[in-house]
Amino acid sequence: MAGTFTFTIIKPKAVAKGFIGPILNMISEAGFKIGALKMLHLTRTEAQRFYEVHLERPFYNDLVEFMISGPIVVAVLEKENAVEDYRKLIGSTDPAKAEEGTIRKKYAESMSANAVHGSDSDDNAEIESTFFFPSSEIF
Ligand code: ADP
Ligand code: MG
Repeated sequence: MAGTFTFTIIKPKAVAKGFIGPILNMISEAGFKIGALKMLHLTRTEAQRFYEVHLERPFYNDLVEFMISGPIVVAVLEKENAVEDYRKLIGSTDPAKAEEGTIRKKYAESMSANAVHGSDSDDNAEIESTFFFPSSEIF
């Protein structure tokens, strides 16, 4: 399945503001098929483990706090060239720099509350998808 799927999170603030539907609609309009989807509230330990790659970054603790501040939606998205195309659809990490028509331009409010996560490589798409979904829950 390499290259054919990516993983996303709709982050707590975007969920709280009622943007699940609009964001899933943008994803769908862009040609992604939803292969797995659920809503959950991360524990601190889970959030720390998910963002372990950023352990040394100065924003790590704030990021973990933010990600456990409310429920999130996680999903596996399927499409040719999924990782790269989804990074284009979400836009820059900093919403102030995000391009017009991107999810972050429309729905993000700050660097940490930037609406969505998107995998940055095929390997991470695999790791992140299996973090949340057993293979029996990916369709
Ligand atoms: P992206 O989500 O675009 O792949 P990174 O992987 O670099 O960005 O960072 C992971 C997450 O950490 C970002 O989505 C954002 O929520 C947060 N983050 C990144 N850089 C900063 C920063 N300088 N200050 C606060 N939060 C940050
Ligand atoms: Mg990243």
